[in-house]
Parts: sequence; structure tokens; C-alpha cells
Amino acid sequence: MSTQSLTRPAEDSPATSLAAGGSSVELFDVVKRYGEATAVDGISLTIEPGWFVTLLGASGSGKTTLLRMIAGFIDPTEGQIRIDGVSMHGVAVHRRGIGMVFQNYALFPHLNVYRNVEYPLARAKVPAKERRSRIDEALGSVRLTGFEKRMPSQLSGGQQQRVALARAIVARPRLLLMDEPLGALDRNLRESLQIEIRQLSQRLGVTVINVTHDQEEALTMSDKIALLSDGKLVQFGTPEELYLRPSNEIAADFIGESNIFRGQARAVGTGEVAVEVPGGRVVGLGAGVDDGDACLAVVRPGDVQLAGAGSQLDGVSSVTATVTDVIFAGESRRVLLRGADGQQLIARVPVGAPFDLSPGEEVAMTWPTAACRCVRTSAA
Ligand code: ADP
Ligand code: MG
Repeated sequence: MSTQSLTRPAEDSPATSLAAGGSSVELFDVVKRYGEATAVDGISLTIEPGWFVTLLGASGSGKTTLLRMIAGFIDPTEGQIRIDGVSMHGVAVHRRGIGMVFQNYALFPHLNVYRNVEYPLARAKVPAKERRSRIDEALGSVRLTGFEKRMPSQLSGGQQQRVALARAIVARPRLLLMDEPLGALDRNLRESLQIEIRQLSQRLGVTVINVTHDQEEALTMSDKIALLSDGKLVQFGTPEELYLRPSNEIAADFIGESNIFRGQARAVGTGEVAVEVPGGRVVGLGAGVDDGDACLAVVRPGDVQLAGAGSQLDGVSSVTATVTDVIFAGESRRVLLRGADGQQLIARVPVGAPFDLSPGEEVAMTWPTAACRCVRTSAA
């Protein structure tokens, strides 16, 4: 992602009166304990105005708890949350200027679409004559003009979530919090709504904190991803940083399928590192690695090239492995392999490419050096 996407709003975005800019959000050592259990374990994070940030992590990693503390539904056990530089300690939910799309914050079933979207305005005592144009604009921005009189039960799941989004933005929040808003939708709808939400947030200039356990969604939508595991922040960075330079094994494992090799750094040149691994030698890019360091090297399946053992390969990396399975997956074949020390490895080969490997065969894996990242690990 270019740095340009971090500066908002985009120049060609149409003006909208709902645009109120974005808030900054700062977390300082935020902890939430429930008895003996620690749901959020000392998270510090700075979110700049207008950023689209995704809290990503497996179920139970603390995403919802963190989001609910930012919203003000629950108080941190320790630490501080600041919005636009102001401590939120003791500040009620409805005074935080936040729009929300939560799973458990569904539409009012007995109110029609118009009344649902009107609700935050009525609550904020916005004069009745001003409401109409704001509601029209909010519904227009989620492409639901004409649906005002429908009841929630007369809408599809995707339409309901768009109404929830209109309701979340109608009061001109500077911060929008979303907890798995697309979780219940089917894949195609989810993908188109991801793009819609992303574009809408850019148009409004609003800061977004979105929760998901779906790494594809996080990679597609976010300026920054905060990866959580066991209540702790594992890594905070752009999608590219997490994808290409995972800071540790948890990050490497979580962000998509990867080949992870472990070994000792041998030849360390300018920005390049060669790592001695079971079954061969891995060469990749890596900074701050010294000769003899224990290293972790990450290679994406799509960057791996395969050749029958003994044949010539382009790359300087070469690791032998045995094919265990070949799975047809639409545009590519997923080739599962077993490494010299029994580890699972994977390659993705485009369906158009020549392919004559079958299970049981021994092959050599290689890749362009630039497609492999090496990081130092603490443990040998
Ligand atoms: P996520 O949204 O990432 O799935 P949660 O924030 O909901 O995770 O939960 C994090 C951890 O905190 C889980 O182990 C969960 O069981 C625990 N937890 C969350 N809320 C409570 C609560 N009200 N009481 C006790 N434990 C809780
Ligand atoms: Mg959750």
C-alpha cells in the first residue's frame, strides 16, 4: 500500500456533509482482566486520524474486548485510552462521538429503515428539519435510497448491514468501530461490501477500527493491521509489512499460508542472508542478521518454483522436499510437500504452467531471493 492511502480524504472524493474528519486514538498499556483471566494484556497503539485499522486475531485473542473498551462499554482494568488526546476515563459511550456496527448491535426490528437511521439523530436531539437531509445522504451513501419504508425483516443480510452502516455514520462520527460486520455474509457479498466500506470511510475521512478474524479481509481493507494473540499485540504495521516481514512466527503463521524455514545464518551480505536449513539452503532478504544467528525465513506459496530433483533451477535457494499431495484449486494447483525434517511445505503453481509432478516424487524448491524474508529469532 502506498503512503498516499494513508492521507485522506482522496482528492477525487465527492464532497459530503457527513464528512467530519477522523479522530486519533491512543492506547497506553491497556489491560482487561476477568478474575484470573487476562482478555487484553498490555496493548499500546497509536492510530492517526483517518486510518483504517483492523484488529486481526484468532477467536479469543481479545479483539472484541479491546473494541468495547474503546467504545466505552467496559472499562480497562489498567492503562489509558485517549481519543483526540483526551482521556476517555469516565466518559460515557454516547459522549465519545463514535459510530458503531457491532454484531450484537443489530437493527431495531420494529422500526423501518428510516427510523433506524434516524435513531442516533433523535438521541443527539438534532432538530427534526435537519434530520431528513442527513438520513437521505446516509442512505444514499450506502446505496439504499428508496428503502426508507422497509422493515429490517424485508431486507437481505447485506442490506441490513448497509442500514447499520448508514445508522453508524449519520451522526457524523469521527471514529467508526466495527466488530465483524460482514461475518454473517457470504463470500461474494462480503468482498463487495469490503470495498464499499473502505471507499465510504475514505470519502468521510473517518478513522475506522474494524475487527475481524479473516486475514484476507484485513489485508484488503486496512491501512494498518494490529495482529493480536492471547490478548497481546503481536505486530502493528501495513498489510505489506505483515505479509512480507512478519515479526515472528505467530505473525508469519497467521497472515496466510507460508513456508517457514528455520536454520542458522551463514553467508550474510548486503541485505541478503543465506540460511542453512534441513534439506538445503535458503537465500532471502534480511537486515540486522549476523553470521551464526538463528533465523526464520518466510516464503509465500505463490513464489515457490518446483523442479524434479537434479534439474536446474534459476534461484540460488534450493531446498529438497517430497510431494505429498496435489490439490486443484481453481486458478492454481496447491502442491503440498514434506521437508527434510518432516515439516509441511506448500507451493502454488498456476494451472496454465507445465506440471508433471505426482505424490511421492522428490523435488527441489526455489524462489527469487527478493521473495524471501529472513528474520532473526531469539531462540536457537
Ligand atoms: P475475540 O473477540 O478476539 O474473539 P474476546 O475479546 O471476545 O475475543 O475475548 C478474549 C478473552 O476474554 C476470551 O478468552 C474470552 O473468553 C474472555 N472474555 C471476554 N469477555 C469476558 C467476560 N465478560 N468474562 C470473562 N471472560 C471474558
Ligand atoms: Mg469477537
